[in-house]
Amino acid sequence: MSSDNDISGIERSDVGISGISDTGTSNIDRTGDAVDNGHQGQTGASGAERAARRDEAVRAAVEQGLLGPDAPILGLLDITGIRESAAELRAAFDAVVAPGTPVLHAFAVKASPLVPVLRLLRDEGIGAEVASPGELALARAAGVPPERTVLDSPAKTPAELREALALGIAVNADNPQELDRLDALMRSAPSRSPIGLRVNPQVGGGSIEALSTATATSKFGVALRDEGAREWVVRAYADRPWLNRLHAHTGSQGIPLARMAEGLAETYALAEEINRRIGRPQIDTIDIGGGLPVNFASEETAPTYARYARLLSEAVPGLFGGRYGLVTEFGRSLLAKHGTVVARVEYAKSAGGRPIAVTHAGVQVATRTVYVPDAWPLRIAAYDTKGRPKEGPAVVQDVAGPACFAGDLLAEGRALPLLEQGDYAAALDTGAYYFAHHYAYNSLARPAVHGYTPDGSGGVAFATVRTAQTLDEIVAESGGAHASSLTTLRTPDRR
Ligand SMILES: *Cc1c(COP(=O)(O)O)cnc(C)c1O
Repeated sequence: MSSDNDISGIERSDVGISGISDTGTSNIDRTGDAVDNGHQGQTGASGAERAARRDEAVRAAVEQGLLGPDAPILGLLDITGIRESAAELRAAFDAVVAPGTPVLHAFAVKASPLVPVLRLLRDEGIGAEVASPGELALARAAGVPPERTVLDSPAKTPAELREALALGIAVNADNPQELDRLDALMRSAPSRSPIGLRVNPQVGGGSIEALSTATATSKFGVALRDEGAREWVVRAYADRPWLNRLHAHTGSQGIPLARMAEGLAETYALAEEINRRIGRPQIDTIDIGGGLPVNFASEETAPTYARYARLLSEAVPGLFGGRYGLVTEFGRSLLAKHGTVVARVEYAKSAGGRPIAVTHAGVQVATRTVYVPDAWPLRIAAYDTKGRPKEGPAVVQDVAGPACFAGDLLAEGRALPLLEQGDYAAALDTGAYYFAHHYAYNSLARPAVHGYTPDGSGGVAFATVRTAQTLDEIVAESGGAHASSLTTLRTPDRR
């Protein structure tokens, strides 16, 4: 699908692109839309404070040696900002649900699979949505309790299902074959796990095909509008008194809010129909998934959780009326704006008249942006050799990564103060699905990740989230212990 008029995969009306300042220092991306450079904070107090905390953190990281010639790339997480987003999420839904409604906000671990992040969110009352044995292990390592954990993968093995049921973790089944497996497991050992079925209301996709979960042929859940599907779903609940949740995740970046609401209206209507036809409120909880889009075009947080919660309460009033408990599974919207990847400019060169800053951040930390730049443009902020916001006239330039292929660009033709050798380029809004999602191209090391917070006396305090991957680790993870396995394997003598 086209993203021509759509810089961040969000409908224009949702992010208020027109609200972006026109100060002349904005840079222009290939779609022709303005993209700010991260030093303006023109979009409200909390955005301005976030930008100020980020600038302070970059300067302190250089000062304290976390960034420098021998540590040329670093991931940073704004602890204050993450806590604020978690509080906004809780407040948004508290404001619309009937008093006493059980609500579980489960963070989609895939958005930031880092144990200290999951612990921070746990501290903020947020649970975990996991979709693999690895993600479940991370949630458990962070101390997220089973009753605040939801398992959603589309390809759960019998062993994974058995473990989830033994732990009492909520499970959302994806398809009829998975329900058959759950039948057998529930017969052999009853479980207190809440169990739901994921449905695909097939309301359609958004501007990013790969992230559109509610298309007619999406791989996720039971396709509700397919011939006979609805009847099958109703029977599936009637036959299984333990099937007590209904799950839909109808969107992600690029899906218009109205379409997400439409998908949830369908899901709610289905829950009502099932309970009516069974004759009792067997479905007691609706899991509305995540998918709130993020504004990558400016500092502004938009759409907000409050806006989405209000929209849902207007579009689907019964959803929050008190008859159903609520589970949410937000990922990107909780973390994206609170992460920054900062990389040193190793060389500044020029080709065909175009200045190029060769940095240490490219495809390994910004995989989607490098491979699908039009769908995933990132704001770039320029800092000088001391980590201070770089001043100077805007110059159209490329910001390149370290990988050995021509398309390894963080930004192409972007207007920024001219980046010079020893400066730093920061890719903003990279707290979800970016530097925590390392891509091992060129065996580039996973960068260290640090959380930051004002230290109370005008400075910045850092906490290690993850240390940088070492060369020994790269060798070990690349078969180092099996160096001679291929040359010593005895093959049958062919002569
Ligand atoms: C990816 C995913 C989420 C989180 O989506 P975001 O767009 O990051 O909010 C939630 N639920 C399910 C089932 C998912 O696959």
